[in-house]
Amino acid sequence: MSRSGKLEGSNSIFELDSVPLLLKTPLGEFSIKLSQFFLRFRISKKGVRLIHESHPLVLFMKGIKLFCLIVFFCALGFGQTMPKDADPKMWADAMRIHKKAIIIDGHNDIPSPMVDDDFDLATSSVGKFHGDGDPFHTDLARFKASGITGEFFSIYVGGDRMQTHDSMRRAMDMIDSTYREVEKHPGQLNLCTTADEIRRAKKAGKVCALMGIEGGYAIENSLFALRNFYRLGIRYMTLTHNVSHDWADAHRGEVKNNGLSEFGKEVVREMNRLGMLVDISHVSVKVMNDVLDVTKSPIIASHSGARAVNDHTRNVPDEVLKRVAQNGGVIMINFYPSFLDARTNKEENERSARLKPQSDALRKQYANDRNGYNVAERKLLHAKPMFIADYKRIVDHIDHIKQVAGIDYVGIGSDFDGVPFLPAGMNGMEDLPLVTYEMLHRGYTEQEIRKVLGENFLRAFSQAEKVAGNRQISGQGSLKRIN
Ligand SMILES: [Zn+2]
Repeated sequence: MSRSGKLEGSNSIFELDSVPLLLKTPLGEFSIKLSQFFLRFRISKKGVRLIHESHPLVLFMKGIKLFCLIVFFCALGFGQTMPKDADPKMWADAMRIHKKAIIIDGHNDIPSPMVDDDFDLATSSVGKFHGDGDPFHTDLARFKASGITGEFFSIYVGGDRMQTHDSMRRAMDMIDSTYREVEKHPGQLNLCTTADEIRRAKKAGKVCALMGIEGGYAIENSLFALRNFYRLGIRYMTLTHNVSHDWADAHRGEVKNNGLSEFGKEVVREMNRLGMLVDISHVSVKVMNDVLDVTKSPIIASHSGARAVNDHTRNVPDEVLKRVAQNGGVIMINFYPSFLDARTNKEENERSARLKPQSDALRKQYANDRNGYNVAERKLLHAKPMFIADYKRIVDHIDHIKQVAGIDYVGIGSDFDGVPFLPAGMNGMEDLPLVTYEMLHRGYTEQEIRKVLGENFLRAFSQAEKVAGNRQISGQGSLKRIN
């Protein structure tokens, strides 16, 4: 509460002129002054005397005005909490920048529960857990609070689908579930497939659902299928997930092709020709370099960090960062604390190894009770707390890429709904404004922040569209097949 007083002769008139009702939203911090309701006191030696208050009718009208204001701020995305150590003025500035910016997130795994559990984005996901026990981070209200303009819905196909021979079917199910959500919520969501559509959605106040395939084996070695995925709206493809396959090697070290096979290189060329971005998250360093040798369009890493900050195979080494700068691509930082931070990664690995016998026993015990298992598993993990890096670590990766490659080649790729926990201080997508604040706090300019939040991706995407140009999708398509 702030007060002001002014001296009038020997008395002091004291007005409660600013009892700030502080509304913290991701789009700005607003203090509603209650001066409209002011009570005026005269403070003198005789004591404190109320000398003025508003007429009840005026108060009533102002009450309605206040109510409308609160509804308005709620609609903007009420709920973002300013960190305790934040400077309120800088926070307000950060929220202003955040609200204005086009924000594009490279990776979100929400389609998995949309297919497996019929999850509807209109349902609140706060405090809920996926079938595998991981927490939810995404729903329509949280989208609003996040300020996100374009979200890549991950058409994720697990490596096990290669064994069960249903990779393409899985991708089809995921794509349909994304369309279903867009069709069910036309007031909030748009399916977007171009950079222009993203800019238009920003103006219309809508969220763009974009789609990217995770796991290149989803095309089942068919460039014909690749073209149809493009038609359905897929605008990037992560060449592998965690396992190597017929034409590309994954990050974990299994060498099947010594990088990208000849057919793999043709996949990259065909993606360039179509205007589908090549995503180097999850692939081996050799594949990253092979892609950069072949591609004519900018590439992305949709959800990876900088390896120099945390030496993890899911992150991108400096030599590749420098090449991505030459290529005009974007490295979109993954928020998963074990990718962000070495200590978190080490402690998580140690904890998993230590608790494995108990976890296995729980899995057996609750074989037919997924919910029961999740509750028990979470209890087990919570009993053994570990160090979890906070959201500021995300900006350490951004800082590094800014230094090594340049501010034009870094973005964000949260991996919301695809990770077992988020950085300390973040509960879900609604906490994205923290990243904007941290960049501002470190001295990033508004223009630099806007580049990281979305403009860099838009530039790369537009360039890929330009390279594709006005081509026939199938008529001029590659007929190469895998041998
Ligand atoms: Zn991934």
